[in-house]
Amino acid sequence: MKKLQLIKNAKKIVIKIGSSLLIDNGKFNYKWLRSFVEDLDSFLNKTQIIIVASGAVSLGKSYLKFNTHEVNLNIKQAFAACGQIFLMNNFIKVFEEKKKKVAQILLTFADTEDRRRSLNSRETIKSLLLSDVIPIINENDTVATDELKFGDNDRLAARVAQIVEADLLLLLTDVEGLFNKNPKRHGDAKLVEKVTKIDSQIYKMASSQTNFYGSGGMLTKVQAAEIAGSYGCNTLIFQGNVNNPFENLQKNNIGSVFV
Ligand code: GLU
Repeated sequence: MKKLQLIKNAKKIVIKIGSSLLIDNGKFNYKWLRSFVEDLDSFLNKTQIIIVASGAVSLGKSYLKFNTHEVNLNIKQAFAACGQIFLMNNFIKVFEEKKKKVAQILLTFADTEDRRRSLNSRETIKSLLLSDVIPIINENDTVATDELKFGDNDRLAARVAQIVEADLLLLLTDVEGLFNKNPKRHGDAKLVEKVTKIDSQIYKMASSQTNFYGSGGMLTKVQAAEIAGSYGCNTLIFQGNVNNPFENLQKNNIGSVFV
């Protein structure tokens, strides 16, 4: 199965791009974002696109010149408050070069759970798409508390996909996809190309990969695929930490599809 075809066939796509792609050594990776926007033009110029992007905390941390690793939630929220401005400024700058308009939407877990608020955000997103504006969504980190936080943008992206009734969720990551065992420890690990049922076996594979790669890793991506799947939206997890990630997908066809 050609994975790029799956993307080309979709009408409305939610694309999640994480900090590991957008931030390089505490600095915004313009080169990567330019190549990503180039790819949007080449492969997705007729598709409705909603982007879920992170990096606010990391950019804010550099701005405030904080070096310590251990920071409490409030400090992280302060980072996000500072960094979100830079994140959006960078998006405006790069998208403008290709004559594309963007808008910022910040959502909390509570917003996505509340029917009236999620319907409101759906209408706003609809209006933006009708005006050819690409919504750039992040978690509203400054108001989220520990208990009521997505914490990772994978699951936020899945809820957004549900709210906007997307037919495809793309999770761009720094690995090729889901492997049947940890590829760093097992030379014979195989990429799982297609998942039709998310069961404990799949979660086990995702956890072994997550432990190695750290952060939310593969586990939150599989959880996101499960959330999206329960609303009839397919998910594709593929390697995004290369320039022109869609062109790369076309060449190498690497990634894991959840249908
Ligand atoms: N919302 C956080 C940020 O923009 C990141 C969440 C995540 O890593 O997925 O920095």
